[in-house]
Amino acid sequence: MCKKLSFKLENQPSLDFKPQKPDSPIVSTKPNLRSLTATELTDSLAALGQSSYRATQLLDWLWKKRVNSIDDMSNLSAELREILKDKYELTVPTVVRTQGSQDTTRKFLLKLHDGRFVECVLIPASVGFYGNKSDRLTLCVSSQVGCAFDCKFCASGLLGFTRNLSADEIVSQILLAEEIAKDKVNNIVFMGMGEPLANLPNLLKAVELMTSHQGLNIGARHLTISTSGVVPQIKKLADHPKQIRLAISLHGATDEVRSQIMPVNDRWKIEELFQALKYWTSKKKQRLTLEYILIKGVNDDLEQARILAKRAKSVGAFVNLIPYNTVEGLQWERPSEDHCRAFRNVLSKHDVPATLRLEKGHDIDAACGQLRLREELSTE
Ligand code: SAH
Repeated sequence: MCKKLSFKLENQPSLDFKPQKPDSPIVSTKPNLRSLTATELTDSLAALGQSSYRATQLLDWLWKKRVNSIDDMSNLSAELREILKDKYELTVPTVVRTQGSQDTTRKFLLKLHDGRFVECVLIPASVGFYGNKSDRLTLCVSSQVGCAFDCKFCASGLLGFTRNLSADEIVSQILLAEEIAKDKVNNIVFMGMGEPLANLPNLLKAVELMTSHQGLNIGARHLTISTSGVVPQIKKLADHPKQIRLAISLHGATDEVRSQIMPVNDRWKIEELFQALKYWTSKKKQRLTLEYILIKGVNDDLEQARILAKRAKSVGAFVNLIPYNTVEGLQWERPSEDHCRAFRNVLSKHDVPATLRLEKGHDIDAACGQLRLREELSTE
């Protein structure tokens, strides 16, 4: 298994930090009905000579009754259903594996229509994200199959980048999780597999489907996009009218340390990243989050904590400290709990709000990409 892993690592595609274009589906050439916004769907039905009332009925089937077959839309005429089937797909991913239990963090491995795998993680209320204690159920969603960014702590990049998820594949993760949990997901974090800002067009569409009244109707401030720091896309997202939240995977307070962990830092250095974050804070009301994984002997020096404190203050950010979750095939370790606390105390001394998350899910490979990695390696 290790041999296979190191082979894969040697054969990583060359990194290209330009935003990738959404690719066409590999199996189906038809768009998925659930990737259409309410406006697109209404326009599409109007072009077929159908009233806006039909569009309302269709939206109801897709987002309220949540059927997964056009044939089940019983109040639409048989003729319209045939036309829709001709033009659109309504496939949904299938849950092929679950880890965790009813009342703890649960992780789902999903199989997509082309046989690829992604993961999402359901996190119960008690964990609480970014001080937002009122949230009851958080879902961590994936935005790509694999990842091209090659962050050195992350399991998702180990098999390289395969493709972008379509908007419906991103949103379906919520529908499936709600079906399993029999409860409403009310907080979404884009911290699963992939770099959401490298899939911006589909991400924005998914945000629209999640937040619109005719879609999932989740408040924009309950969506957190996490990025490794794709500076031009951060600026674009800052100009988006919705008050979505942003989290930055920082993991190093100086270029020297961060570049060892995240190759993206060679493309956009910390200064440039923080310029973009200042622009973000000028446009949005919600506090930014800086994520900082603590890795023993790599980025956990207390001097890093002091510089991190200064940087967090410069953009009024909240810091989320996460002890490193070990990944099979990667050598790094988490520091001792005492050392993690000492790191957090430096931030507190500088009046920087910070949490030290004693992660749920360490025992279920909850760090992004770990479950898929197992599946891909065992099915090779
Ligand atoms: N590409 C995006 C989203 C994926 S990583 C980004 O870079 O932000 C999102 C977060 O998952 C990381 O910031 C980190 O908080 C967490 N994570 C990933 N791998 C981890 C690991 N091995 N240990 C602990 N946290 C991890």
